[in-house]
Amino acid sequence: MLGVCYDEKSSFLKGAAQAPSLIRKALFSPSANYYTEQLIEIRPDMIKDLGDFIPAEYFEIRDIVSNQGDMPLLTLGGDHSITYPIIQAYAKQHGTFEILQIDAHGDLYENYEGDPYSHACPFSRIMEERLVNRLTQVGIRTLTPHLKAQAEKYKVIIHEMQSLELKSVKLNGPVYISLDLDALDPAFAPGVSHHEPGGMTTRQVLDLIQQIEVPVIGADIVEYNPSRDLHAMTAALAGKLAKEIIAKMI
Ligand code: MN
Ligand code: MN
Repeated sequence: MLGVCYDEKSSFLKGAAQAPSLIRKALFSPSANYYTEQLIEIRPDMIKDLGDFIPAEYFEIRDIVSNQGDMPLLTLGGDHSITYPIIQAYAKQHGTFEILQIDAHGDLYENYEGDPYSHACPFSRIMEERLVNRLTQVGIRTLTPHLKAQAEKYKVIIHEMQSLELKSVKLNGPVYISLDLDALDPAFAPGVSHHEPGGMTTRQVLDLIQQIEVPVIGADIVEYNPSRDLHAMTAALAGKLAKEIIAKMI
C-alpha cells in the first residue's frame, strides 16, 4: 500500500493530496473489525505499508511504482491523474491486463485546459499508449460528444449510470481497479471535489467489487477530498472499500 499525496492535476478544487493518511486511518479504525463481508481478515501486519509519497513532479509517480517490482499495489490518492503513471509502471511489470474504472467521469479528454495530464485525461493517455488491453467504465454520468467520440476511438466499454446493471459488467482479467470516489452519489460520498448527483450507492460499489472473479493485480482509490468531507464519512467509506479491494488482491 502506497499513499500518493498529489493534487496538482485537479482542475476544480485542491485537497486530494491530504487524503492518503486519512484513508489509512479509516481502514484500520478501531470503530470496525478487520473482517470483510466475506469473512476475510485484513490485518495491518498483512500489508507492507510504503507510507506516503509526495511527488516533486508528475512522472516521479511512475518511478516510485516501478521501484516496487511486481508486488500487487494498492495506491491511495491523490487525484485521478496518478493512475496514468501508475499504469505506465504496471504495464512494464505485469504483462497484459485490463482496467475496471469506477467513476462519474470518463476522464477521457484529449487534453483539459491545455494539460494532457489533467485528472480529466488519464485514460486517454493510457489507451493511446495501449498500456492495457481493455477499459471498462462503471458509474459514468457526465458524457459529452467529445468524450463519447474518445470512448469509441479507444473501444471503451461504458456502463452508464442511467442504465446500470451490475451483472452485465464482465471482466476477462487480470484486472486493475481504479476507483474514483465520485462514482458514488454525493449523498454517500460528500468528500470529493466534484459532486455529481445520480451516482452509485455504497452497496452497488461493494457488490461490483465482490462479484469480481478474475485476479486483481492492483488498485487505486482516488479523489477523496477531506476538505469537503463530513465527520470523515467518506474516509470511512474509502477505508471499507479499500478493505474489500485488498481482500480481492491477496
Ligand atoms: Mn476520475
Ligand atoms: Mn470522477
